This record gives sequence, structure tokens and C-alpha cells, in this order.
Amino acid sequence: MTKYVYDFSEGNKDMKDLLGGKGANLAEMTNMGLPVPHGFTITTEACLTYLAEGGHPAGLMAEVDEHLAALESSMHKKLGDAGDPLLVSVRSGAKFSMPGMMDTVLNLGLNDDSVAGLAAQTGDDLRFARDAYRRFIQMFGKIVMDVPADAFEHALDEAKAAKGPDAQDTDLSADDLSALTERFLAIYREHTGSDFPTDPKEQLRLSIEAVFKSWNGKRARDYRRQNKISDDLGTAVNVVAMVFGNRGEDSGTGVAFTRDPSTGEHVPYGDYLANAQGEDVVAGIRNTLPLAKLEEIDAASYKGLREVMDTLENHYRDMCDIEFTIEKGRLWILQTRVGKRTAFGEWVMANDMLTEGLIDEDTALLRVDANRLEELFKRRVEADGAGAIATGLNASPGAATGAVVFSADEAERWAKDDGTKVILVRRETTPDDYHGMIASQGILTSAGGTNSHAAVVARGEGIPAVCGADAIKIDLEARAFSANGTTVREGDTITIDGFTGNVFVGELPLTDSVLEKARQGDATAQSQPIWQAYDRLMRVADERRRLRVRANADTPEQSTNARERGAEGIGLCRTEHMFLGPERVAAVQQMIFAESDDEEKAAFDVLLPLQKGDFVGIFQAMDGLPVTVRLLDPPLHEFLPDLTELSVEVALGRERGEDVTEQEKVLGKVRQLHEMNPMLGLRGVRLGILKPGLYAMQVRAIIEAACQVRKGGGDPKVEIMIPLVATRPELQQTRDELEPVAQEILQREGVAFSHLEWGTMVELPRAAVTAGEIAESADFFSFGTNDLTQTAFGFSRDDIGKFVAMYEERKLVPANPFVTIDLPGVGRLMKIASDEGRAANPSLHLGICGEHGGDPASVGFCHGLGLDYVSCSPFRVETARLAAGQAAVGGFSSATA
Ligand code: ADP
Ligand code: MG
Ligand code: MG
Repeated sequence: MTKYVYDFSEGNKDMKDLLGGKGANLAEMTNMGLPVPHGFTITTEACLTYLAEGGHPAGLMAEVDEHLAALESSMHKKLGDAGDPLLVSVRSGAKFSMPGMMDTVLNLGLNDDSVAGLAAQTGDDLRFARDAYRRFIQMFGKIVMDVPADAFEHALDEAKAAKGPDAQDTDLSADDLSALTERFLAIYREHTGSDFPTDPKEQLRLSIEAVFKSWNGKRARDYRRQNKISDDLGTAVNVVAMVFGNRGEDSGTGVAFTRDPSTGEHVPYGDYLANAQGEDVVAGIRNTLPLAKLEEIDAASYKGLREVMDTLENHYRDMCDIEFTIEKGRLWILQTRVGKRTAFGEWVMANDMLTEGLIDEDTALLRVDANRLEELFKRRVEADGAGAIATGLNASPGAATGAVVFSADEAERWAKDDGTKVILVRRETTPDDYHGMIASQGILTSAGGTNSHAAVVARGEGIPAVCGADAIKIDLEARAFSANGTTVREGDTITIDGFTGNVFVGELPLTDSVLEKARQGDATAQSQPIWQAYDRLMRVADERRRLRVRANADTPEQSTNARERGAEGIGLCRTEHMFLGPERVAAVQQMIFAESDDEEKAAFDVLLPLQKGDFVGIFQAMDGLPVTVRLLDPPLHEFLPDLTELSVEVALGRERGEDVTEQEKVLGKVRQLHEMNPMLGLRGVRLGILKPGLYAMQVRAIIEAACQVRKGGGDPKVEIMIPLVATRPELQQTRDELEPVAQEILQREGVAFSHLEWGTMVELPRAAVTAGEIAESADFFSFGTNDLTQTAFGFSRDDIGKFVAMYEERKLVPANPFVTIDLPGVGRLMKIASDEGRAANPSLHLGICGEHGGDPASVGFCHGLGLDYVSCSPFRVETARLAAGQAAVGGFSSATA
């Protein structure tokens, strides 16, 4: 027969699945000999069976009776005894701590008879006993039987009002409480249609049932969905002998943390409330005292508590959060768990514990969250939320202040023309807004969730964002928005707080983060504990990691920035931006319109020196480190005007009788290049094959730039990457055309590089499954996981915002596959490609250059796959280094597909 009930002495901290977190830790503390009231735990399995069968599992209540009897004999008291009653609490407790489930019922076992016994136990403290009784009826009614809380509150208010205008709970006498109890019993009867159960076993049975049912309550379900907790875990129920913190000034209750959870500092931290029971602390009825005050009130208990705190910390080797009660000078521990902490606190604590010898380096490394590292570099709004004109979702961390603009074009223009700092405010954003979004300090939208286009792009680019602030009503015609009665016009300054979702009018003072200041060399910042912790643990990560970390960088400035952040090369240098700017666009258009080889060559001659200049800067910034340059990838029509706009322009010009021959010529070309589905159209290697001079010009620019750097004493390491290859012949033919171009220059210049490789992006499913063939023509592969995800799912990355939230909510995908690599699909393609590629070509180098290269879970996967490096945005380099270090010491399962 299944065992459904465990005495505290039978469990331990590793039994959270069965006993829930609270039960497992109560058992652990009991076995450590700490002063925990006796009790037992009903398992999560009992809960699941109850929910499946719609009733208590066979044998459960008999087992509860046995454990209750054991509890009674160890306490020398009987539940409900009229002379000397045992009282218990009934407490829910799932594997993960979960607000939203049933609250705790205290003082269970009281009835009209045992209330006298309770008074006798406490030296005839009638008032105390009656207060405990009325609290029990109130809690039981509210929590177990769903009697509206107001009904009891109202009766309590009336009783107080009868004592005088400012009367408190404490002004009610024993007799007042007696009368109030009668009133409560009547309220109970009115709302439930039955009498309050006087039989303590009945009280217990109903309470256990209520805890079981609360697992499927709406609040609990919502919380689980939000926090990605499985619905199949169930909750345990803890039955614990009561101790009383409300027996006078020598009693009380509180919460203690073994370290300060927000600063991480190694000082005791917490709250204490004298003469109070359980929920009083949370309810905020009276102001709590800082924990340190307890030393003045009750030095002995404080000392005892400090000892327990040290014992627990040494035992769990982590910061613990403890709930305790003092009954007439006697300390009781009612709960502990490894405490939650801020992103800041976790670094300081991990480093301190390492210094103290409590944990080793690997453990310290795993104690910090790579997903939260980026936040620590972001600016914050100094003030609290007071004065916010609207609040939306905290979609991307960081604070930003700037002038309001309402379109992406304006954002780009204002930012470029005179360096104005702007905040882009829109209802929603679309892929067409991208250029304006990256030109903005921050993004604010009035619609859309945390997976909207705006939110996803903002996080991807490290730009602070507040999304879905629905109080904001945008009036595009008036170039203004209003929010809760305040009007803000274009050009007005606002401040947004991507940590809280608050929106403010005006420029609020922002605090630079200590880490960012320290990173930039500020000596005071570097002496702070957070930097010391960061510096040391990152060193550990760098020592441990096997993955190299490169950056995706397109300019010398980005390259320098990335190198300062620890990048060990460039994994993706996109050349498309090198084709922007008026002079370049003109040359590109000339190339597109060329009707003869000579015309085309003339266009390349303009572009070549410009491109070369860009590459020189990048090779210099990355001297001695590999730089992967991707040849032009996007379709050519991106360099021409928009089809619709141009059509309108030509039509209008013609109507006005203007000479539109030139525009018509352009329009003809735009039409000719127009694609139904540019994502799958003439781009990447296909473009290179159709316009061979284009790639040859790019290769010439790269090699000549590298020669120049080499001759200047530098050590350029060149990797040329051909995008969007699907078949081996595509790659081989392209190489056959391009390699001689490079060789010729090297010979002419009399230069040799220490490193020159040719490779391809693996970003199409066909390339992945034929990687064995393709590898024979490649020195390296770089997984382009953005396109690979796009083509594997058939999801457009730019449009997924419309449905990804719903997909995640319904658990149709485990996570947004553009953020975290989809292991069974995309991950499996990568595994096939790397295994077969390496088998065919043992010296093949492997890396990843999609957005996933900066996502900790994906970095862990890449480690498991045995890639040589990950490449990510410069601002994610530290995150990737940390995640790679964690993966190396087992922080992420090296789960391969
Ligand atoms: P939560 O899961 O919300 O923390 P708990 O089950 O820990 O709920 O109960 C809340 C509070 O009730 C505890 O912190 C403690 O103060 C009080 N409490 C629970 N059980 C007992 C008990 N047996 N004796 C005294 N106080 C108790
Ligand atoms: Mg608790
Ligand atoms: Mg691509």
C-alpha cells in the first residue's frame, strides 16, 4: 500500500517532490535537532490521487489518524480535548513555493469545549483563548469554506466600534470576544448552510481537502502558467502542532534571512513582531521591527535564533529564509528554505560564501543567473514609482530618458541628425520599425505583451522597453499622447523604467550601474563588492569554459566594444550595412542597373575602397583574433526604393506632366527584382552566383584590407563566410571563383596570413542534413540559427509576435524558439550537421552566430554539442562567457537532441 503520510522525522530535504518544499525542509530541520514543533506531512501523491478520484484516497484518513495519535502522544495532548487540547495548523506546501494556493489554517482543534482547555493551558488566559477561537472560525470559514472575508471583518469592526471610536482588536475583552465568537458562528451558518464543525477530526478532514482542491484553484493555475510550473505536481499538506507568538510581550513571530537578500551582505536581515501570530506579520496590521531589535527585547532568543541561522546556512550552504515564533521566551522554527535574492545580491553572496569557504568555485559560479546578468549593467530610475503617468509591462530591463517621437523614421532622423536621444512611442511596432527602434534610447508601446515584436526586438538589442501601457492613448494627428489626464507632445521628454514598467514625464535622474561604471574603469566602482564578485566569478567562468565567445559586430567601434567585453573574435561581420549611406547606395544602384560588364565594374570600383576601409578598421580592432566576414546576404531590392511608394511617385509625376523617365527606369528594375517572398528569394549565395562580380569585389576588399593590416605589423585572421548555402556545389563553385581572387592578391602583395579559411553558414534544413557533403568544401560551419529556426518551423521571425505568446501559453512550444534553441527540431538539425560535418572533415571548425549565441540555455546546448565557439551581440558577450563557464561545470544539461 502506498504510504501517504510521513512524520517529520521520516523525511529529508531531498524529498521535495513527495513532501513539498515546506514539508521536506521541516523534516530536515527536525532531523538536525532544531526546535521545530512536531508534525507530519501528507504527500503530493495523496493530493494527486484525491484530485483524480474526487475523494480522499483509500486508507489516507486512517493513516492520518495514526500519525495524529503519534503526534498527540509526543505532545502529551489530545486534539480537541476539553481539558488540555492539542491544536494544529494545516499548511499547504508544493515543490515550489506558490502564492495562490490555500492559506494556512491556524489553531485547528478549537471548539466551544476545548477553548476552555486552551485557557487553562495558558494560566487561565481567557482572553487569549477566546481570541484564538474567533480567529480559527474566521480562518476556517474564509479559507476552507469560502465564506466572504468581509462578513467576518464587518462583524469585527462593529464589535470594535461598540468599544469606542478608535478601539483596536486588543481593546476587546474576553467577554467581547465571546460575543464576537457567537456572531462568527452565526455568520458561518448563514453562508455555509451548516453548523461550524465542532469535531476536530472533521475540521482536519475538511481542511486537508481544501488544501488538495486549492491546487486547482484559479489563482494557483494562473501562477503556474506565469511561472512555467507543471500542473502535475500536486501539493503536500503539513499538519503542525501549534505554538503561540501571541501570548504577550515575551512572545512574537518573525522572518529572518541569513544574509541581506537585496545587497547580499553577510548580515542578519528580517522582521519581528512582538505578541503576534503568523499572518499578522504579512497582514501589516502593526509595523514590524527590524530583526536586530529582537536582541534588545529578548537577548536569549535572539542568540538562539542566530545560532539556528548559522547552523542552517552551514547545512544548506546557501542563504536561508526562516519563519520563527517565540512563545514565552522559547524559540520555535516553523519553516526554512533557500531564500530568494536579487540579481545583485546573488553575486555578492556567492563571492562571499566562496571567500568564507562555505562553497567551492564551481558552486559559486552556478549560484549566479546568467539570464539576469545583463540587468546589472543597466541604468535605473532613482525614484520609486510615485508620479508615474502610466504603467505597462516591464518588457526589457533598463531605464531610458529621451524625446518622444511617434514614428521609426522620425526616431532615426532625430537621432542621426543631431544626436537627439529619443524614445519611440507606438501602439505596436512592426519589422518596418526596426531601424527606428535601434536608433532609440527606449521603446514604449500601448499595446502588446512581453512577446510582442517591440518587446522581443528590445530585449534582443538590449534597449529598455515598456510595452502594453494601455493607459497611453496615442493621437498621431495631434502628434501627442495622453495618459491618465496628462498630455505629452512630440519632442517632450519622458523617462521609462523597463524594470518596473513605469512611465514618467520629464527627465528623471538615472543611476548608472556600478558594474557599468567599473567596466569603464571607475576606481570607486571597482572597489565595490558587486564588482569584486563579478570580476572573480567571471574569471572562474573563463577558466572553466571550453567554448570560445565571439561577437557579432559590423563596425570597428562595435568590434572594439566587443573586445573590451572579452570577445575572442568576430563570429559574424555582416557586410550589408557597408552598402548603406548615400554614396554607397548610389554605387549599389549603379551596379544593379548596369547593362554591361564595364558599367558593373565601374560600380564595384566605387564600392571597393569604401568596403576595404571598413575592413581595415575591423581587422585592427580584432588584431590576432579571428574575424568571420559574411558576404552580402540580403536581396538586392532592399537597396532600391519601395515598390508602392515609387509607383505612386511616378504616377503623380506623370499626372503633373513631369519627366519621369529616370524614375520609370528605377521602377522597372524594382518590379523586376520584386519578390513574393524575399526571405526565400534571390539572396545569399544565390545572389553571389547570379552576380559573381559582387562577391569577388567583397573578397578583394577583405583580402586587400587584411594585407594592409598585415603589412602594418598586424595579424589578421580571416574567415570568409558564404551565406544561405543549401547544396555543396553552391559552396564549391563559389569557392572556386573566389579563392583565386584572394590568391592573386596575396601573391601580388607578397603576404601570407596566419589564418585564412572559407566556410558557410548552416541555416537551411537541407544544408544541415547534407552537412557531410558540404563539409568537404568547407573549413568551417557557423550555425545561423535565426534562419534555421525560421526555415525549420516555417515561422517568420518578424511575424511570430502575433502568435508566440499564445503558443507559449498553450505549451505548443516550450519557449520562444527564436530566443532559446528548439532542441528536438533545430537542435537536432544542428546535431546532425555537426556530427556529419566533423565525420567528413575532422578539422572543421564549428560555431553559432544566431541570436541564440547570447541565450544561456542555448549556450549550454552548444557546449554539449561540442561547438568551438558561440557568437552573440557585443552586449551579451559577458552573459555568454558566464553561461559557457556554467555549462562546463554542469550548469546546464548538455542535453543533445
Ligand atoms: P506560507 O506558505 O504562506 O508561508 P505557512 O504555512 O508558513 O504559510 O504559514 C504562515 C505562518 O503561519 C507561519 O509563518 C507561522 O507564522 C504561522 N504558523 C504556521 N503553522 C504554525 C504553527 N504550527 N504554530 C505557530 N504558527 C504557525
Ligand atoms: Mg511560511
Ligand atoms: Mg541568414
